Amino acid sequence: MSDLATERDIVTVPKVELHVHLNGSITEQTASELARRHGADPATALELVDGRYVGHWPDFGGFLNSYLLANSFVRTPEDLELVAAAFARGQAAQHVIYSETIFTALIQVRAGLEPEAMWAALRRGFATVGPETRLALVVDAIRDNGRAEAEATIALVEAADAPVVGLCLTGVEGTEPVERFHVLREAADRLGMGFEVHAGEMGPPESITEALDVLEADRIGHGVAAIHDPRLLDRLIRDQVPLDVCPSSNVSIGLFSSWETHPVTTYWERGVNMTISSDDPPFFGTTLTDELRQLVRVAGLSRDDLGELQRRAARNSFASPEVKAALIAEIDAWAAAG
Ligand SMILES: [Zn+2]
Repeated sequence: MSDLATERDIVTVPKVELHVHLNGSITEQTASELARRHGADPATALELVDGRYVGHWPDFGGFLNSYLLANSFVRTPEDLELVAAAFARGQAAQHVIYSETIFTALIQVRAGLEPEAMWAALRRGFATVGPETRLALVVDAIRDNGRAEAEATIALVEAADAPVVGLCLTGVEGTEPVERFHVLREAADRLGMGFEVHAGEMGPPESITEALDVLEADRIGHGVAAIHDPRLLDRLIRDQVPLDVCPSSNVSIGLFSSWETHPVTTYWERGVNMTISSDDPPFFGTTLTDELRQLVRVAGLSRDDLGELQRRAARNSFASPEVKAALIAEIDAWAAAG
């Protein structure tokens, strides 16, 4: 058995992150700056404790409240640019070489941003880091808001001047019959994009089966509920269904009590095609680097395993074949450097 990956390996490995929400990446510092910009006192307006988000909630609703408070101050293109720039710098600082950033475009438009100004703000924010930090967008529609909003989201993406590589279905599982959202699959095919579905997070294993069989998802966000259904887990392994696993997110909203009881180690050992992401990192008191550090600890990853996990993320991404090859070459160069 090879040695555990070292702290240096964890920090330096070129990282590929597939599941991080831009609106969930707003740090306490950025949120406080935005609150002050709009005349509010951050401590009360954001419900901060000692300057920090609470970080652990009894359920998803507690997290959502904190997330919505922070996002209530993203009101102008300049606000969104600040959020995008802070996110870009955070990814670059962690040696992220490619990131699929989930963005709820329709919420920003409903909050009053003109679509063109919104995409331009994202482009400006992302351009604060160099081209070695490739930042792509995956635009999501929220299940709870129904099919009409999914269609409005597709229309925004069709007209977007932005690096959108995928569509995504998020929101509370079970709130609407999933077949209503097949329109997202069709649009992704028409636009040459990927399609990811958040499923088997708070919902049951059947939600994952529906995402695959009814919505024909390319990739599953979370998918941790498959631990409760051995036949489904066997299917995910057999078909090598790509799963974005975000352990701290699941632990922070009480789906599992700890990293030790989270299914990530079983998934890794059984050969599930999983990758690791941070989801809404500051709200869960984490970063992508922290997620990898914890995974090394609980599942015993070696340096080679760490490199292979990032190659897998490149392969599971919605990037073009050329970008995937470039990402894998960078990871290979890191692996060879030893
Ligand atoms: Zn997510």
